[in-house]
Amino acid sequence: MKRIVVFTGAGVSAESGLKTFRDSGGLWEEYAVEEVATPEAWKRDPQLVLTFYNKRRKQVVEATPNAAHKAIAALESKYDVRVITQNIDDLHERAGSSNVLHLHGEIMKSRSTADENLLYPISGNLELGDHCELGSQLRPHVVWFGEQVPEIPHASSIMSGADIVLIVGTSLNVYPAAGVVLHAPPHARRYLVDPASVDVVDDLSVKVIKGIASEAVPLLVQQWLQESEVD
Ligand code: NAD
Repeated sequence: MKRIVVFTGAGVSAESGLKTFRDSGGLWEEYAVEEVATPEAWKRDPQLVLTFYNKRRKQVVEATPNAAHKAIAALESKYDVRVITQNIDDLHERAGSSNVLHLHGEIMKSRSTADENLLYPISGNLELGDHCELGSQLRPHVVWFGEQVPEIPHASSIMSGADIVLIVGTSLNVYPAAGVVLHAPPHARRYLVDPASVDVVDDLSVKVIKGIASEAVPLLVQQWLQESEVD
């Protein structure tokens, strides 16, 4: 089975009503990133950080997967599909994708501040005083700006086995995540879907499809499902 690696960013969830970072002018609602999405912010004002992520989580719970998430999941009938996402929402999973790697964590999970391997599912709010089994405060299971991205080697290894790469809705501005696409092997066919111009650092050829995810992705998927039948 051929492997398709789908690399997504905030744009794939935009039409589900979740704002991208770029579209919001660097602000998520009334918050500046450095006030809420950094380790310093957590030290300075953990309540503010929890409130921010509680709002984000509520939006995610209320959102539903769009046609792009669903089309990506449908590829699994004919391909070995691996999704690598920078998103913290769970819309790929809810659309039916079974193999999703979250580079920047998952908002529907909390994590112990004493042991990063202790994760817990959450659906409602996370509060000060919510503790892990060791008695330490829980924090959102997300990678903040300035923190390590521990899944990079795993993601790069998945990417190195790609036959087809589909990049959707990412400005490729946030490193080291954006560097993962450079690990695709030379023979892999590369596609990028975004309504805006994205600087692709990769000097290998990428077919750029300027369009919104909910329209462009289902068309590509339809083509690839048909193609697999004549292989
Ligand atoms: P970004 O905001 O830097 O870039 C988003 C890209 O999506 C832009 O290039 C934009 O043109 C494109 N886009 C907008 N609408 C689109 C649509 N309908 N279809 C296709 N593309 C569309 O996001 P990023 O590159 O993912 O990096 C920002 C960081 O913030 C990442 O870690 C990201 O995951 C995180 N973030 C996550 C969420 C989420 O989990 N849903 C939301 C906002 C930001």
